[in-house]
Amino acid sequence: MLSQQRIYVLVMETSEIIQIFAESGFQVDPQALDMIKGKPELIQNVLKSLDGSVMVVGIEHIKPLTESTSKAMILPEMHHAEEPQKPVLRDKIQSPVTVLKDITNQSTCIGEYTEFVRYFKDRYDSLAEMLRKRISSRPIESIKKRNLDTREPLSIIGMVLDIRATANGHKLIEIEDKTGTMPVLIHKERDKELFDAAKKILLDEVIAITGTLSPEGNLMFANKITLPDIPNVQKNTLNERKAKGKAVFISDIHVGSKTFLEDSWLRFSDWLGDEVDYLVIAGDVVDGIGVFPNQDKELAISDIYEQYEKAAEYINALPKHIKIIISPGNHDAVRQAEPQPRFPEKITRMFRSDITFVGNPATVDIGARVLIYHGRSMDNIITSIPGYSYADPVKPMVEMLKLRHLSPIYGGRVSIAPEQKDHFVIDDIPDILHCGHVHTVGVSRYRDVLTINSGAWQSQTEYQKRMNLTPDPAKATLVDLASMEYRVLDFSC
Ligand code: FE
Ligand code: ZN
Repeated sequence: MLSQQRIYVLVMETSEIIQIFAESGFQVDPQALDMIKGKPELIQNVLKSLDGSVMVVGIEHIKPLTESTSKAMILPEMHHAEEPQKPVLRDKIQSPVTVLKDITNQSTCIGEYTEFVRYFKDRYDSLAEMLRKRISSRPIESIKKRNLDTREPLSIIGMVLDIRATANGHKLIEIEDKTGTMPVLIHKERDKELFDAAKKILLDEVIAITGTLSPEGNLMFANKITLPDIPNVQKNTLNERKAKGKAVFISDIHVGSKTFLEDSWLRFSDWLGDEVDYLVIAGDVVDGIGVFPNQDKELAISDIYEQYEKAAEYINALPKHIKIIISPGNHDAVRQAEPQPRFPEKITRMFRSDITFVGNPATVDIGARVLIYHGRSMDNIITSIPGYSYADPVKPMVEMLKLRHLSPIYGGRVSIAPEQKDHFVIDDIPDILHCGHVHTVGVSRYRDVLTINSGAWQSQTEYQKRMNLTPDPAKATLVDLASMEYRVLDFSC
């Protein structure tokens, strides 16, 4: 009895170790597994030491660490909004701004049906590929056809086609891969954690389900949901790239609105000094025209080009050494369907010529890799997941990282142009994910990614009052790119 129990414990440990490594995208060699089993405290150090070239962890990765002492990981503290202090002069060593990914001039779509099919195929292929590295799955049709042992757990990878509640309150989701569809039942009482995870499932996301089949093979009972997710510990590429300098993140300036906070903006503009190397603006530079019903009554400047001229005046006045990156949002004068290209020449020529204009979303390298997305999909995510709200913008952003997709729900408040490639897939993991749109501030860390939602420079509008949205305006997030420490600065008074 005792020996049986001992074996059981060992087996559990092994599977746990395998799972921890699998979640970070690695497989473990059996010999290495034996070494780790006796020293589970090594796991985190081993993970930290691995680089992107490693797929299977072997003893050669573990031996060097058995002698070295483990260094505690020091995480920067969470800072609350504080009074900005005038930055001090120091040596400038800036990395240039490199645009890594941007839809601008790459748009292929004209909106035909076949393009939608192709778009969804690309989304499925990219995300399924990430999941396949961690889970061995079977095509849905193959498990329906064959007479498989229904007690053995199986995994499938698919896109969520439908989510329903059964009459008894269980969740029934329908998963689709390229070969067919499978209804999956998530029992409301059998596993509370699983049921909670199921509440977060969004339409059109790509996930893996592990479960057992009904005797007829036409229904799966879920045991586990696996999301594409990001590795638990990634290679610390920041040190390798020697990220330097400080970057400020803002969005939603909304120049042209009656509620644009000019005083706060000018305080911010005055504060920006030698210490700051980069300024990243995630969309809604102006308030635009005709974005919501009766917007004209809330505009101080009713001509969109005059709005941009005023915005250019503010931005051109910022210190010359600061490298500025601007991407558009849903209030800006570019196509509404996402991904959005950068501002047209008619607008960019109003601005300083050294500004980098990119599309939405876009990835730029400023020593650290920054994924900029205005964040319109948060409207869909917040209304779809129970307990999520505009007051806490970090939660939907973390959901994007877990799903490796910036706009998982197709349709709703976001109109997505069916490009050849799904530009919303997060294939390369950024150091920083920067969004805006919801006009509330939230900064957090999910695994190795700093998630920033940067608020707005506009106080509550009549429209927001009616929608019951309370903005948190006139804040900017300052990030030290070398350490990834951050401070939220308040310029409201
Ligand atoms: Fe906005
Ligand atoms: Zn917006």
